[in-house]
Amino acid sequence: SLDLDQEYIGCGHCGMPVAAHQEGQACPRCAAKVWRYKPQSTMRTMAFALAGFFCYPFAYLYPMEYNYQIGKMEGYTIMTGVMKLIDAHFLLFAAIIFMASIVIPFLKLFSLSWFFISVRIHSVKQLRLKTAIYRLIKTIGRWSHVDVFTVTVFLPLMHLSGLLAVYVGDALPAFLAVVVLTMIATEFFDPRALWAAYLMEPHE
Ligand SMILES: [Zn+2]
Repeated sequence: SLDLDQEYIGCGHCGMPVAAHQEGQACPRCAAKVWRYKPQSTMRTMAFALAGFFCYPFAYLYPMEYNYQIGKMEGYTIMTGVMKLIDAHFLLFAAIIFMASIVIPFLKLFSLSWFFISVRIHSVKQLRLKTAIYRLIKTIGRWSHVDVFTVTVFLPLMHLSGLLAVYVGDALPAFLAVVVLTMIATEFFDPRALWAAYLMEPHE
């Protein structure tokens, strides 16, 4: 039973209320460490997001694969792959690959940076929206081995043009790095940090 004079922290994993003076200890129900705000979470998030930003251009500027075609090597970036799919009238596939491999990773990095800045400047604006976006990013992250799945779909589809040999391009490791770094950055982030500035403001 809860003692109403006492301050509680919700376990970040299972929601169990744990007395505030036990912060940093294991949750009695699920054994996750209980924190008011995950320590260092915002800085860690930004460190991984920055690394993701760094890799992002390499993933799109360099070829994802090379085809050896009619005696010459031809490189395909993700974007030229999407264009090829459009030319071949695989519009749905083109849209999925465009979203999963270009738009979503960018939106993830962009949102995490927005959250980071908000926490740093103690912004109390759009907190519900930011929290909802964070939840969305996390949900996408769960089934977003879609990002990785994209690569595996992408490569075989490129063979439509009937070729002899395919080589993996320099963009592939950069792309996988973007996927993994954004996933780690998202996991580190603690959305409660967004609300800290609001909770510190005087309320009646
Ligand atoms: Zn718990």
